[in-house]
Amino acid sequence: MEDLLKAVADILRSSKNAVALTGAGISAESGIPTFRGKDGLWKKYRAEDLATPFAFQRNPKLVWEWYVWRMNIISKAKPNPAHIALAEMEKEGIIKAVITQNVDGLHFRAGSKNVIELHGNIWRIRCVNCNWKTVLSSPPTQIPPICEKCGGFMRPDVVWFYESLPREALNKAFKFAAQSDIMLIIGTSGVVQPAASLPLITKDHGGILVEINVADTPLTPVCHYSLKGKAGEILPRIYEYLKGKFE
Ligand code: NAD
Ligand code: ZN
Repeated sequence: MEDLLKAVADILRSSKNAVALTGAGISAESGIPTFRGKDGLWKKYRAEDLATPFAFQRNPKLVWEWYVWRMNIISKAKPNPAHIALAEMEKEGIIKAVITQNVDGLHFRAGSKNVIELHGNIWRIRCVNCNWKTVLSSPPTQIPPICEKCGGFMRPDVVWFYESLPREALNKAFKFAAQSDIMLIIGTSGVVQPAASLPLITKDHGGILVEINVADTPLTPVCHYSLKGKAGEILPRIYEYLKGKFE
């Protein structure tokens, strides 16, 4: 393992365009459940049955109850050593962008600046009727929240199953993926599209893929390096190797 960590640190050090692609797994050690892990179920529901436009149409209150539950967890959570190591690597000029599928905002709170939020942010809400947006600082007390402009229902400004991704964020992500000479793929199950195809773009352009995950994923066979373990333990160690050579 140490050899692998050193090898990855060496590649990062000589890279010109390192990017990270993160999923729910990077926030697991902050206490935020992933969708597919054992803690992912809320009451008896699966995320796939709640995070959809149809679920919201059918029962907006139920969907909001789930979001209030998630918002409460996220507001108490803190960035963990994995988020912090990525932010430090960005400060050192090594990581150029963090492309995240997460909606929890923890990369920003850890100090990362160039964060591309592919699936939106849980604290931003928008009107389903007139599209007016606002940002919450705590979970709403009245659900569903009502639009100040038109009286319509507000929903979290996140990407649900069956919805397309925000175009600008997606374009930026594709651009970074194509230019990247090394991509760290951290805590993502590699099954949610189109995020899961970003590593393939990097690889097609000659970039190196490094997966950091506690489990194998559909991306594991296409990665050059697979670092098996917790993101909060592996990333700080890679950063230590990097720093060792810097000082
Ligand atoms: P996912 O598809 O990103 O899968 C989680 C992955 O993380 C799995 O492969 C798992 O093996 C891995 N993992 C778990 N703990 C880890 C750790 N400590 N270190 C490294 N890897 C670890 O996430 P999902 O839960 O299937 O959710 C799919 C969609 O929902 C994505 O958009 C996801 O980002 C979003 N989501 C976001 C949050 C959040 O914002 N924190 C939470 C849940 C789901
Ligand atoms: Zn409105």
